[in-house]
Amino acid sequence: MATNPRSWCRAFFKLGNYCEDVENNSTESFNSSINKAREKPFVHMLETIARLAMVRIATRSRESHEHQGKCTPYMQRVLSKALVDKPFKDGANKCVVRRSVKGYFDSRLNGQTHRVHLEKRTCSCRKFDITGIPCKHAYGVMLKLKVDPSDYVCEWFRTAKWRRNYTDGIVPVRGSMFWPKTDAPDVHAPP
Ligand SMILES: [Zn+2]
Repeated sequence: MATNPRSWCRAFFKLGNYCEDVENNSTESFNSSINKAREKPFVHMLETIARLAMVRIATRSRESHEHQGKCTPYMQRVLSKALVDKPFKDGANKCVVRRSVKGYFDSRLNGQTHRVHLEKRTCSCRKFDITGIPCKHAYGVMLKLKVDPSDYVCEWFRTAKWRRNYTDGIVPVRGSMFWPKTDAPDVHAPP
């Protein structure tokens, strides 16, 4: 408890991010992509970043609209890997599943019972809740019900959401000679 378990213990992780990684790769990636831009003066830097973002969003938009299937390519890879990963597959197959009320299932693996709800995307092991991706226990329930796991991954991993995220992008901005002039003082480099 002295070292704040929110950053390393599953029981304390914040829900709602649907991310299985805990690192700062996204900031590293942002930093390396703006490498050229950050050497520039302020306005030119922002223009360069806007152009990089515009191209990136447009590429993602095209990719997402060309992609077929319910889930994003990342999630398709995760789901197909789960089906060939022996410990995961064996675990899911070994789950003894019993139906409860209100959509709950009792999924028992290696002598431990877990409480699974497919529609709510929850399992008392918390992996499903945290990542939005079915855990072994939830997979066990899906195998028993003969339903498609891709229908139960979090909406953020669905193609429809992916497309929606990249529908609105950045439109090109005209050159600075067309920008409005202000009466505010010019910005100068500090002495
Ligand atoms: Zn679980």
